[in-house]
Amino acid sequence: MASRHDRGDASPKLSRPGDRASMQLTFLGAAGEVTGSCYLVDTGEIRFLIDCGMFQGGGEADRKNRSFAFDPRDIAFVLLSHAHIDHSGLLPRLVALGFDGAIYATRATADLLEVMLPDSAHLQEREAEHAEAGHSGRNRGTAPLYTVQHAVASLGRLRPVEYDEPVRLAPSVRCVFRDAGHILGSAILEVWLTAGGAETKLVFSGDLGQPGRPIVRDPTPIAETDVLLVESTYGDRNHKSLAATLDEFAAALNETLVAGKGNVVIPAFAVGRTQEILYFIAELAAQGRIGPPEVYVDSPMALAATRVTLAHAELHDPETARLTSWLASGSGRSRVHFTETLEDSMKINSIRSGAVIISASGMCEGGRIRHHLRYNLSRPECAIVFVGFQAEGTLGRRIVDGAATVRLFGEEHPVRAKVHTIGGLSAHADRDALLGWLGGFQRAPRATWVVHGEPLAAHSLRDAIEQRFGWRAAVPALRQTVSLQRAG
Ligand code: ZN
Repeated sequence: MASRHDRGDASPKLSRPGDRASMQLTFLGAAGEVTGSCYLVDTGEIRFLIDCGMFQGGGEADRKNRSFAFDPRDIAFVLLSHAHIDHSGLLPRLVALGFDGAIYATRATADLLEVMLPDSAHLQEREAEHAEAGHSGRNRGTAPLYTVQHAVASLGRLRPVEYDEPVRLAPSVRCVFRDAGHILGSAILEVWLTAGGAETKLVFSGDLGQPGRPIVRDPTPIAETDVLLVESTYGDRNHKSLAATLDEFAAALNETLVAGKGNVVIPAFAVGRTQEILYFIAELAAQGRIGPPEVYVDSPMALAATRVTLAHAELHDPETARLTSWLASGSGRSRVHFTETLEDSMKINSIRSGAVIISASGMCEGGRIRHHLRYNLSRPECAIVFVGFQAEGTLGRRIVDGAATVRLFGEEHPVRAKVHTIGGLSAHADRDALLGWLGGFQRAPRATWVVHGEPLAAHSLRDAIEQRFGWRAAVPALRQTVSLQRAG
């Protein structure tokens, strides 16, 4: 099995470090799509990665996950923007293939990874076993991308850093992590690179949060940079206002739980989304806008992530104190059930009405959510409420796009439940918030690269950047290499 941790297909490898005199940046993921975030910086002296994320959404994603475009042994270190698997999920594979440098991340991100990477490895191992046994309908290789052992090894390479404190990473590279307001620990990266006596600054937005949302702070404005990488998940649309979003959410809950006598199933990233959804449910219940529902948080990782969230009170915004006290209060405890064991998880299957079931994965690609969809998706009295972005090729996207039937555990299931997509609950900044953050720059970056968005969203934001600010902006192609230095 271990020998199957090959370097994947015969995709062209990038040249060795030091081949070129100039500083270069290569887009190795989240270019024209939202997953697989990974950027390779080559200063001419050393090479490092910004993010090392997993591609998600089907066989093509699996193929990309298996073929690094570089030799992991050549990478000096990794800067990690945040804990989400589409930004961090290939770190164990990087380590498995020989990377032995440091992984720099904020303290909260490091704490979250302690939970997430071993969990991701479990999932990889389970899927590989399934594929081997012929149970998987998916076109996957039989070797796991990595094992729990690799995940644990990658945790050993983590170097926690503080927000706003300069970190010297190499003689020619320094960096500051700024709060991105997306999930706990999420960061915008400011990176300074020196080569030939000249300094170039690179800013990577990471995933930016929507301002004015609970639990995390608002994204930090950045004043200037030479080269900018900005995310564009919602580059082509605005969320409804928070008030309208909560109206929509309350209506979906009341309609289903009270009038419809069904269950509400919410696929949610265990980290970030689950805690924020709990917060909104607590708020709506406290305001008497919904009857206090029975909430099942069915994801051991969500429980662990909630513990990490509550442990990092120093990062919370003031509203979060209310969630903390609701969860800690007697009534809160009786209303929110965190299930850890498989047995408890399966008990939820027999609940026919009145339950809000929050489970991962957020895009329905794996995990316990698939069981809850199986039991509720074909019942017209139930509702599936999507609260996060659903990437192309994922099961979640197919349901959102109106598929009449979907395949779960080898069987076709008709989609009869109501499907709600509440974009306003997303952890991502919408178009106006992205442009608002970009408006914080005091001068035009020399180059702006619009990343982490599907083509329509990315190009729409690129056009808006050119029109509103007059900056030079472009959407990079996957594996495109660009110079980081001034032309000429
Ligand atoms: Zn994210």
